[in-house]
Amino acid sequence: MISGGRLTRGARGSAGEIGHVSVVDDPSAVCRCGSTGCLNLYAGGGLLADTASAAARSGRSPALAARIEAHGRIDARAVAEEARAGDQYCVSLLTHAGNMIGRALASLVNITNPSLVLIVGAAFMVVDELLSPARLPRWIDAGSPAGLAEVVHS
Ligand SMILES: [Zn+2]
Repeated sequence: MISGGRLTRGARGSAGEIGHVSVVDDPSAVCRCGSTGCLNLYAGGGLLADTASAAARSGRSPALAARIEAHGRIDARAVAEEARAGDQYCVSLLTHAGNMIGRALASLVNITNPSLVLIVGAAFMVVDELLSPARLPRWIDAGSPAGLAEVVHS
């Protein structure tokens, strides 16, 4: 995080990283960090790929089934591409993930009251659908009495 023009890394260098913010109270959802309910488990690129692959195999998304047959695998970018093409399963998957990310960011905005939020990582791959400038600021603003921060994707 940058505060007052100075880089602030935190005690272990992860200041501002929200992937391990607990967003769900589920003791069975154990993250690779050792904690439970982390945002990464519900909205990360790995989750999108795994959930989309399961949907392809179960027949919930013919578009994803065709993609996995053609390419052998599905990643977050494929989910974004199919959502863009109109696959409703992919749209709902991204909408759910976007809501989880938006809620976590709203908490971060409340705590730090930043003027700018920079989005990086797997979410960036689906930025057009998940974190469009028209959508993400609304999620942050709706949950934040601190107000709206500018959102930039990188
Ligand atoms: Zn974690």
